[in-house]
Amino acid sequence: MPFHVIVGGQRGDEGKGRFVDLIAPDYTVVARGNGGANAGHTVAPESMNPIALHQIPSGIVHPHILNIIGNGVFVDPIKLTNEINSLISAGIDVSTKNLVISSSAHLVMPHHLSLDLLRENSQNAQGSTKSGIAFVAGDKYTREGYRMESVYFPKELYAKALELLIDVNSNFQTDLKRTEQELENEVKVWLKATENLKPYIQDTVDLINQRLLNGENILGEGAQAFWLDISHGMYPYVTSSSTTVTGLLDGLGISPKSVSKVSMVIKAIKSHVGGGPFVTEITDEQIAQNIRGEFGQTDSEYGATTKRPRRLGYLDLVEIRKAIQLNGVDELYLTKLDHVPRFGDTFKIATEYILDGKNIVYAPSSANLLSKCTPIYREFTSWKEDISHIRKYSELPHQAREFIEFIEKELGIPIKKIGVGPERNSVIER
Ligand code: GDP
Repeated sequence: MPFHVIVGGQRGDEGKGRFVDLIAPDYTVVARGNGGANAGHTVAPESMNPIALHQIPSGIVHPHILNIIGNGVFVDPIKLTNEINSLISAGIDVSTKNLVISSSAHLVMPHHLSLDLLRENSQNAQGSTKSGIAFVAGDKYTREGYRMESVYFPKELYAKALELLIDVNSNFQTDLKRTEQELENEVKVWLKATENLKPYIQDTVDLINQRLLNGENILGEGAQAFWLDISHGMYPYVTSSSTTVTGLLDGLGISPKSVSKVSMVIKAIKSHVGGGPFVTEITDEQIAQNIRGEFGQTDSEYGATTKRPRRLGYLDLVEIRKAIQLNGVDELYLTKLDHVPRFGDTFKIATEYILDGKNIVYAPSSANLLSKCTPIYREFTSWKEDISHIRKYSELPHQAREFIEFIEKELGIPIKKIGVGPERNSVIER
């Protein structure tokens, strides 16, 4: 049964969305199964301005594809309603014909956002996107959460949401405390948004499995990436969902036997948003800024959700190897080959780490251990030419081909698609 999965192999923002958007026409369904409004996927179809998607799968730009927000996604109803409306204003058709939401997806409630804000304003700040994800995920696992299906009981949902918000509000400092009237209004706006989403709600597990039984091709779009995985990432600098292929299967209700292909997206420049160890980080801010590009450009290195400048570094095969080990990867898609010359005359690739005096080739799944690792690099001569117009592999400068072939040899996985610009078709197929 043809279920093709695309996941991120680094720390997010690899460019998963652009590949989902590119290959989506070969599928009838594109499904998201993890993360929530904390995710950000940018797609850049030729005929329109680039679009940043957060909760809606990246197949939405193609009118005939069904987009599923699966049971593993944390749904923020206000942000989702805004996302739907902004897509419609951009001329993209969004209706119950091409978007459905799982009745089992957990709802981000007003108090989750307040709890996130409280923590981010405190000494325990984690640098979250303030989307309430850690708190909605917490409620899911303590079995105190509310799912999309609760929308059918609006009175009870309203009363509970207000009670929880009043409780959390009492923890804010006096100047940030809201009045009871303000809290009621907040919950009413939220409830209205949940009601807007009612027509989209379905048992998506049943739907997706019916489609698989019909022999349809389904594309699973992973959000965030391996190193942000709650179990296998660099805990505690992780997200609150499972970002592996297994996580996506659980977040969509699909059997592992249905997986036909796993593609992992990696970016030629490693990036990270927020705190935590970064073994190959470029600490010279001038070089980092040169690689990052100007704020506001489609492909500059600023968070699609938070707009924070991303920390940048050299390509790190030690981390990617670990991501491959746990995901069972068939092929790699590489992005931002066009930005490699921004490193200067030479660039480096980390092939091993030294940890406690020993050489290791698989990065440890622990922030504590990662912070003790030092990289071993291979250095390469860069190229100067602009490669963004190139569509044939053989036409790339020989240094760029050496870069690609070195990665393939080290990782033992073929690189099948290479991004040379942010636009949908700026891709070299191999
Ligand atoms: P995602 O969350 O993995 O989908 O990645 P994001 O959309 O957050 O970030 C990837 C960014 O890189 C987006 O701004 C893309 O437009 C841009 N991008 C993707 N592939 C390429 C590429 O090959 N070259 C360039 N220059 N930009 C790219």
